[in-house]
Amino acid sequence: MHLRGVVLPDGEPRDLWVVNGRVRTRPVPGAQTVVDGGFLVPGLVDAHCHVGLGSHGGVELSEAVEQALTDRAAGTLLIRDCGSPIDTTPLQERLDLPRIIRAGRHIARPKRYLPHIGVEVESDLATAVAEQAAYGDGWVKLVGDWIDRGVGDLAPLWTDDELAQAIKVAHDAGAKVTAHVFGEDALPGLINAGIDCIEHGTGLTDDTISLMASRGTVLVPTLINIETFPGIADRAGKYPTYANHMRDLHARMSTTVASAIEAGVPVYAGTDAGGGIQHGRIVDEIIALHRVGMSAVDAIGAASWNARSWLGFPSLTEGAAADVVVYDEDPRENLEVLRSPRMIMLRGRIH
Ligand SMILES: [Zn+2]
Repeated sequence: MHLRGVVLPDGEPRDLWVVNGRVRTRPVPGAQTVVDGGFLVPGLVDAHCHVGLGSHGGVELSEAVEQALTDRAAGTLLIRDCGSPIDTTPLQERLDLPRIIRAGRHIARPKRYLPHIGVEVESDLATAVAEQAAYGDGWVKLVGDWIDRGVGDLAPLWTDDELAQAIKVAHDAGAKVTAHVFGEDALPGLINAGIDCIEHGTGLTDDTISLMASRGTVLVPTLINIETFPGIADRAGKYPTYANHMRDLHARMSTTVASAIEAGVPVYAGTDAGGGIQHGRIVDEIIALHRVGMSAVDAIGAASWNARSWLGFPSLTEGAAADVVVYDEDPRENLEVLRSPRMIMLRGRIH
């Protein structure tokens, strides 16, 4: 197949060919032209997604397939799955489904996360991390903080020593570690222990932002999920301190993420689809990142070429996987264009 159009991120009009699911940059005799004009964007990335998770916990594999297809229809062709209660490895064998990088199961303490989702650890975090590192695809997901009902507020789950030891175990096994964090207090311990990424990060302060920037720690803010904080606060009845904390974190979300971007923290787009958030909403997250101050081109990059590069997937270069989304108009000029892909090609197959 032959595609001709303006290729992002460089924005140059180019010709690409596709052979056996791979991009070729030199002419292929007899290739059929399937795209002539428009804008070619490297397959979108949802850097925080839960395939296999529904509003009531784990779902059947068939529903997980539907979730992945919903993401694909939005242009998401690469998913960093941030923890799933079911084994989604069978989905990785299907050529029609987005690529999934699994983080195994969430690791939490008993009663310190949503029930029936993660593995629960009383004391030996390092062993649990080693098990999930072996089970996942190079990422381990910790719950970094959660409401402590004894305290009535968000509180860290792990001590600094537990984190330092566990993150070293993951790194020695070749896996990266990320953590769910809403509040302020869990962040210094996680970042100083060498964690690779922070999810949500609503409790970031100037100090922890500069710590992340200096260590190169990534942030995936999941802005469209943070929009649910006021609702969480409204349902927090017996825990007014926690409710107020959640409202405060929500109120300063835009400033917090803008400061992180400004400080040079790498920020990528993740929807947190799977629990309270529907699948297929990557464009909403791109637009939300733009709204808090990321340029339009960087917001697309945060869900495409920059996120791909971070996760080890090249964009539309010689030999790269032919994962491309084609748009009629320039999405850099108007992000709403991203809602209407003309063509979605995954592994060189047109959907
Ligand atoms: Zn999540």
